[in-house]
Amino acid sequence: MLCKHIKKKYTKKINDKNLLTTLLTTITYICNMKIKRSTLVKNLDAVFSQYIRRKDAINEIAKCVTCGKEDHWSKLQNGHWASRRHYSTRWDERNCNVQCSGCNVFRAGEIYLYTKYLCSKYGDNFPEELYKLSQKTVKFTDADLQDMIQHYKDKLKEFL
Ligand SMILES: [Zn+2]
Repeated sequence: MLCKHIKKKYTKKINDKNLLTTLLTTITYICNMKIKRSTLVKNLDAVFSQYIRRKDAINEIAKCVTCGKEDHWSKLQNGHWASRRHYSTRWDERNCNVQCSGCNVFRAGEIYLYTKYLCSKYGDNFPEELYKLSQKTVKFTDADLQDMIQHYKDKLKEFL
């Protein structure tokens, strides 16, 4: 939509046809790149989330790490300890665990209980390590994202 809008705007204002063609090609390229990128992130989130919710499920039943509620994995969520905004830990399996919507959404991740859970699983120093890691800037290339999507797709096959 935005792409079309920008194209229309330039088409009306620029009389030089060669310049216009170059500009429109560039705009299309950038728009496609952005769309592709956000689609990759979305697809990776989807396969990764499913993996997190299914990996420890017994007979398809998974358990919220903060309140212990059990339900079918499809009804539970992938709860991030460090926010999804931080790409360095967005797809880190230690940062992502099963939570019910009550804990993840309505009780803002139950961060105290979630921190206690991480300490019991990885040691008392781990939350600080994970926090530091979450603050790092990482750049995943499109190929990296594609590789990770394939990696988790393969892992999901184990559940079939
Ligand atoms: Zn819960």
